Amino acid sequence: MKIYGLIGFPVKHSYSAIMHNAAFGALGIDARYELFEIKPQDLEEEFKKKVSDGVSGFNVTIPYKEKIIKFLDKLDPEAELIGAVNTIKVNEDKTTEGFNTDGSGFIAHLKEVVGVSPEGAKVSILGAGGAARAVSVQLAKNNAVSISLFDIDSSRAEALAAKLKAHFPNCNIELAYDADGLLEKKPDLLINATPLGMRKEDKLVFNPELFHSKLIVYDLIYNPAQTLLLREAKAKGCRAAFNGLGMLLYQGALAFKIWLDVEAPIEVMEEALRKVLTKV
Ligand code: NAP
Repeated sequence: MKIYGLIGFPVKHSYSAIMHNAAFGALGIDARYELFEIKPQDLEEEFKKKVSDGVSGFNVTIPYKEKIIKFLDKLDPEAELIGAVNTIKVNEDKTTEGFNTDGSGFIAHLKEVVGVSPEGAKVSILGAGGAARAVSVQLAKNNAVSISLFDIDSSRAEALAAKLKAHFPNCNIELAYDADGLLEKKPDLLINATPLGMRKEDKLVFNPELFHSKLIVYDLIYNPAQTLLLREAKAKGCRAAFNGLGMLLYQGALAFKIWLDVEAPIEVMEEALRKVLTKV
């Protein structure tokens, strides 16, 4: 039996095992996905031990998406540009290769389910952390016409803007002065790439009067499924409002393909995720 698993700290909250084990079952693949909770001081030793013990592939989550890179033999150029890895393939000779499927998963969901092409799109992103880096690199690579950024930590937004400008000169990269400044850019797509909205007491940082009927709002949060941002977007008649479940699903499907070179059974994985998410 092949073993795959998620490295993080903590990992108990993760839905990846549910999604991947459902996929293995549906395709009759003799494999199991486990959760590997590793303490920060043990990361190198535990990771190397799991590779030598025969684990075939990993996902990586908070707080190790950046830290794991120095222990890998090879890094996919997109993961290098994003500066984070969420998927690792272990080859037959036990060499390891890191990928990032967060941004490409987001794009796959956008194209296949939301029905929107990133090409020519004007995009505004709240937050400039790991998820924003992955999503913005893929949007720029897929020819978004402009990307506007705002993060409460302005140095983070500036660093991401500089990176995007250097690698994607055809994409217009701008910094907004606050959340409403993102809406004043009149985007086609507004993305929340912050944890804001996960807690009940979180307030809306946008003035909903600035929402418009052509705007698509995409909140990367998937739990809760309905954030205040998504509720307000629907109430104001925005074109569409999506939570992060689709990104979670498609990043998992792309990881599955990297590990096994087999198309992932998306519907099965989605059903397994929806079942568990309606219970939380
Ligand atoms: P992160 O690295 O902590 O980045 C979030 C950034 O947003 C930080 O720079 C943070 O600044 C900033 N921020 C917080 N509140 C803000 C506000 N009110 N206005 C502007 N910026 C603000 O987190 P991440 O890993 O990128 O994750 C972001 C969100 O995406 C999380 O909710 C995560 O669950 C979600 N996510 C979803 C998927 C999926 O598959 N659907 C995948 C990855 C991530 P401070 O650090 O100073 O607070």
